[in-house]
Amino acid sequence: MAEEICYICRRTESKVGSMLHLPPNITICNDCMQKTLNAFNTSPMSDYFNMNGFQPDNQKTEKPVQKEQEKEDAEDKEKEEKDTKAESSRQNPPMFSFGFLPEMFQGQSNLKKKNKKKKKKAEIDFNNIPAPHIIKEKLDEYVIGQEVAKKQMAVAVYNHYKRVAAEKERKEEDIEIEKSNMLMLGPTGSGKTYLVKNLARLLQVPIAITDATTLTEAGYIGDDVESVLSKLLADADNDVEAAEHGIVFIDEIDKIAKKKNTHSRDVSGEAVQQGLLKLLEGSEVEIPVGATSKNAMVPMATINTRNILFICGGAFPDLSDIVKRRLNNQAAIGFKADLKDKYDNDKNILSKTSTEDLRKYGMIPEFLGRLPIVFAVEELDKDMLIRVLSEPKNAILKQYEKLLELDEVKLEFSEDAKDIIAERALERKTGARALRAIIEEFMLDIMYEIPKDNNIGKVIITRDYIEGKGSPIIELRI
Ligand code: ADP
Repeated sequence: MAEEICYICRRTESKVGSMLHLPPNITICNDCMQKTLNAFNTSPMSDYFNMNGFQPDNQKTEKPVQKEQEKEDAEDKEKEEKDTKAESSRQNPPMFSFGFLPEMFQGQSNLKKKNKKKKKKAEIDFNNIPAPHIIKEKLDEYVIGQEVAKKQMAVAVYNHYKRVAAEKERKEEDIEIEKSNMLMLGPTGSGKTYLVKNLARLLQVPIAITDATTLTEAGYIGDDVESVLSKLLADADNDVEAAEHGIVFIDEIDKIAKKKNTHSRDVSGEAVQQGLLKLLEGSEVEIPVGATSKNAMVPMATINTRNILFICGGAFPDLSDIVKRRLNNQAAIGFKADLKDKYDNDKNILSKTSTEDLRKYGMIPEFLGRLPIVFAVEELDKDMLIRVLSEPKNAILKQYEKLLELDEVKLEFSEDAKDIIAERALERKTGARALRAIIEEFMLDIMYEIPKDNNIGKVIITRDYIEGKGSPIIELRI
């Protein structure tokens, strides 16, 4: 049976738990129902009810006739109670007892449990951010190569959070430290997203990963730029303060380059860059909670983006030609004249990118100005791919070894098997991303057949087996 989807936030039943059913045929999750009621309670409508003496059933009280003294005491007490009630209602707006709702809230205790379970990323101690070399060491455990990128990121993140700490105690006359937003260039599957994910995990800050291709100018089909903040807020379990110290990674940023030779309005290119400016710079943005688009039913939260670290990434496919042309031109003239095609075979040409090159590519100067740290990740070569297979803490081969170990079977990959896997991945030109797909193709049979026979103690995957010329080497238990 198809899964039910919440009418408001569009999340599925498997994500949000049991749904409430409203006529006609509307399903709504507990979370959205609660938010809607909260919004209702804090809206001018609730003032209307209060003004007209409307009181929820459970708050109605009957006043007994009292003697003069008692009356005075009671009045004092009432006043006191009123004050504390007003205070608490500011924090927790009162709930109306809607007669028709009780069974809808059956799932409420569930919701609370879920929230409790999900809570909470340890609060980040900005005065104790790990030093850059420690951040890099941690990244080394997971990410192969990319030395420059790891170093740049470690320093930028360290400075960023130091700035956040300093900001809290900053006085008027102190120097204001600039934000360290980053732009990461490099081919697909070389670990850009992976770096950012690991960074957020080791710092234990909320993270939102989004694709620039889904963004459009406000009012057009697609997500508004602010939707990235909604994702961040969701990852922070709707804790605005935590979200304000989070990391936003916007991938495929090259896809929002200014379109060349276009006569129509560029709603998914330049306009998105323009829209992102205010987020990157730092501003107060009103965003819907629990949804990616604004509508009257969704409560709003205000997020200040000043301390959110923005990291943009993109493959910038033809950028290397622009960089090469500039460098070759420079090399060919003046006293420093050099070989004209010196840079033609430079594999890491993107590391020599200048702001001017990016501007030529179609990024607007204001946008680039807000991303002061620009660096490139290198394309993974065969040796690096072989290392990606087995060295990271959660390497794919280690994962398979662990799975079979649970059946008490030892799994090994011969060196030439790793060679052929890396060679095939190189052919696909999608970086390390291809590795998993290739391995899964031939591991399916192994994972299916091995548990059949309890006598198997060891399996060695060979190049011949991967190439379909032979079978794996099987050793039986003694
Ligand atoms: P992209 O550069 O396109 O963002 P990803 O970071 O999504 O690439 O990489 C895809 C997957 O490939 C990652 O989830 C990770 O498992 C693996 N991977 C890519 N680069 C590396 C690397 N340098 N070291 C270890 N694993 C990597």
